[in-house]
Amino acid sequence: MIKHNQQEIDRRRTFAIISHPDAGKTTITEKLLLFGGAIQQAGEVRARKAARHATSDWMEMEKQRGISVTSSVMKFTYRDYEINLLDTPGHNDFSEDTYRTLTAVDSVLMVIDSVKGVESQTKKLLEVCRLRHTPIMTFINKLDREGREPLDLLDDIESTLNIQCAPMTWPVGMGKRFRGTYHLYSKELTFFDPAADRGTGQIETVKGLDDPRLDELLGSQVEELRNDVELLEGAAHPFEQEAYLAGLQTPVFFGSAINTFGVQQLLDTFIEHAPAPLPRETESRVVSPYEEPFSGFTFKIQANMDPAHRDRIAFFRICSGKFTRGMKVRHNRLGREVQIANATIFMAQDRTNVDEAYPGDIIGIHNHGTIKIGDTFTQGEELKYTGIPNFAPEHFRKVRLLDPMKSKALEKGLVQLAEEGTTQVFRPLMGSDWIVGAVGLLQFDVVMHRLEHEYNVKATYEPVSYVTARWVTGEKKKLEEFEKREAMNLYRDGEGNLAYLAGSQWRLDNTMDNWKELQFHATREHN
Ligand code: GDP
Repeated sequence: MIKHNQQEIDRRRTFAIISHPDAGKTTITEKLLLFGGAIQQAGEVRARKAARHATSDWMEMEKQRGISVTSSVMKFTYRDYEINLLDTPGHNDFSEDTYRTLTAVDSVLMVIDSVKGVESQTKKLLEVCRLRHTPIMTFINKLDREGREPLDLLDDIESTLNIQCAPMTWPVGMGKRFRGTYHLYSKELTFFDPAADRGTGQIETVKGLDDPRLDELLGSQVEELRNDVELLEGAAHPFEQEAYLAGLQTPVFFGSAINTFGVQQLLDTFIEHAPAPLPRETESRVVSPYEEPFSGFTFKIQANMDPAHRDRIAFFRICSGKFTRGMKVRHNRLGREVQIANATIFMAQDRTNVDEAYPGDIIGIHNHGTIKIGDTFTQGEELKYTGIPNFAPEHFRKVRLLDPMKSKALEKGLVQLAEEGTTQVFRPLMGSDWIVGAVGLLQFDVVMHRLEHEYNVKATYEPVSYVTARWVTGEKKKLEEFEKREAMNLYRDGEGNLAYLAGSQWRLDNTMDNWKELQFHATREHN
């Protein structure tokens, strides 16, 4: 096969950072952007984030939509590499977008707080990565604090996340006794000096662990390092590129993001070992990034600055070929040609118009609601990229309309917001109250606010005792029987698919047990 655009593709790295709130994602992002020259001083990313989170009033956040658009994709260059860092919304704005962003990257960086170990949000996000065998690199942060024992942390990762750890560096001490890290492969010792500019510390190359220079440098702590590394030989796995790429093993780095310690080491290994844009599956075949025709898919829709005009930006991941401004492409779901004139590429600082973009890049396509999540664009061939699912919501609310005359407008609003991926909607088989489902709580406020301001519908929420949902498929007759017997808990989502909502995990298990002939899905592909 001829490899088109090979040079451009091979130097691209598209990834996301996953972590639990407060583990240090923003701090690392900032340091990465500093290394990439995309920002001039620490604090810029945090300032933007603060602007976004400063208020719990969603009205204010509405005004900040532009900010969340620009920080959705941060592109920077490092050495000869073009890096696309995709933001995975966390904290309050944790949503399905957070999950779906992970379908648009080729690898992820997992940040773990050395004091806390693996936390719940990390675990949830990792599950999505594991489904897709996404390669994962790990950074254990905050070594300047008294944290858990490094071996204990590796054990936590291995057992909680069910992935092998391959330590790349090893810390000498922690907290007040943190002296730096020893690179297990290059045999370099990097000193930690919190006072130094950028804290990077001085690098000393030693000839393995027996080098007497180590004794000079580390004094009494050298034995600790020697013992640890000896233990590691039996307890840890050596780094294997293949296992990393298959998502079976994660290389692990230790450091302190706030002190910029260990971040560059990580970045250097990342550009070398993390995958360039990978082949992607469609319903009919696997598409290589090196194919000449352009193709890609939409993984996120964001309402833009002027909601009155229903102006939306579709976040589109390029999977093959080369994008040029004004090119004509086939919009697969609609089965017709469209011209992409109005596209944006996301830089770390501001948005500029794109003239060319390659596999791995994300472009933002302005539209008025014609593009949906999961839509594929190609140059001619009929393809549909798969693996851009809806995820079963974890929170539910019943919607009560205040003005009964507005039921059509309510339906339109709920369905359109579901198309944007803000939330999911469920219409009961019996009764008339819509249920809104979300994976993050903030989304409920977003929906109410937008219903009122964009659709002129006033409604309120009522609690409802559901905790989980499954999409149900199966043989026609069985399904009909199921619909009759379980009607009370059955719904149709925005696209008309049958969904079962359960009041407890036990209830769900029980129903699944009783209906073994049917399939219950925790995710659903877009139509
Ligand atoms: P995020 O919620 O994951 O984006 O986390 P942040 O980057 O906002 O960091 C959370 C808190 O941890 C902030 O107060 C940071 O200053 C702090 N922090 C980040 N990295 C380090 C580190 O290496 N050491 C220490 N002691 N604190 C850190």
